[in-house]
Amino acid sequence: MNGLILKSVGSWYDILCENKQLYKGRLKGKFKLDDKKLTNPIAVGDTVSFEIEENQQTVVIDKIGDRLNYIIRKSAHKTEHSHIIAANIDEAFLVVTLVSPQTSTGFIDRFLVSAESFRIPVSIIFNKIDLYDSKSTHYQEELIEIYQSIGYNYFTVSAEKNIGVEPLVKYMKGKKILISGHSGVGKSTLMNRISPILNLKTLPVSNFANKGVHTTTFAEMFDLGNDTFLIDTPGIKEFGLVEMEKYEISHFFPEMRALIGTCKFNTCLHKNEPGCAVQNAVSAGTISSSRYKSYLSMLENDDNRK
Ligand code: GDP
Ligand code: ZN
Repeated sequence: MNGLILKSVGSWYDILCENKQLYKGRLKGKFKLDDKKLTNPIAVGDTVSFEIEENQQTVVIDKIGDRLNYIIRKSAHKTEHSHIIAANIDEAFLVVTLVSPQTSTGFIDRFLVSAESFRIPVSIIFNKIDLYDSKSTHYQEELIEIYQSIGYNYFTVSAEKNIGVEPLVKYMKGKKILISGHSGVGKSTLMNRISPILNLKTLPVSNFANKGVHTTTFAEMFDLGNDTFLIDTPGIKEFGLVEMEKYEISHFFPEMRALIGTCKFNTCLHKNEPGCAVQNAVSAGTISSSRYKSYLSMLENDDNRK
């Protein structure tokens, strides 16, 4: 039989079978990790085949299907290793807020670059629009112009006041969607709006001020029916990046990728080289200066890279 991994707890997995039955399953015997740098053999979103045990209650997983894509993050304990957060994702929703608290463009761009590196499309969800004044409305328009022109999809919603949620729900149909964003942006509130049966706990923003709080870092996939799934990533602030060289970073900025081969030097890092098409585009205003700033800061920051 075949199924889909919804959740992992220790060495046990919740598996949704093709026939919609839910099973608890384990891996057969000693399972070999193909990639030695990964800490977990199976992740949420993986497709598996399994056999039902004699007790008729539990199952044994004997095969993991090929992954279309997956996202990782650095393992907290073994720095050389990465943990697969989720696999086979159709799209990521990045929930952001421009007020209470404001998500920085630096954070947005890092997320978008990670998603590009994993080949996962992103929609940006602007939440808490009920709190906007004219200044934040204007700022949102600016950001929408920037991200839409690069090719990112977006939605503007108020999870609390139930504004703009219906088109989002329609859009999600038939997709496996990973939802992400800083604590306090209203992810849980939005998920409860999308599917009230989830009944996730929400917390006032002030409760997130305490940085020492231990948060769980396991992804979980929720079955919303009609082949629609929502993957929650509680406590996971940032994803890793596929390993890349400095010159490759701009390949994950679609508007810079479009200019590949047009700089004077083919080793151009678009920093201060003469005849640089990217710097020219920034001066001309066709590449946004905030995106370029994010690019430069990723260039300087050696995290996650070779
Ligand atoms: P999470 O950490 O991203 O899951 O955020 P929560 O869903 O727990 O929400 C954090 C806080 O923001 C809570 O106090 C929510 O009531 C509030 N909140 C969430 N969405 C909205 C919204 O659309 N408008 C307003 N005004 N507050 C919201
Ligand atoms: Zn250049």
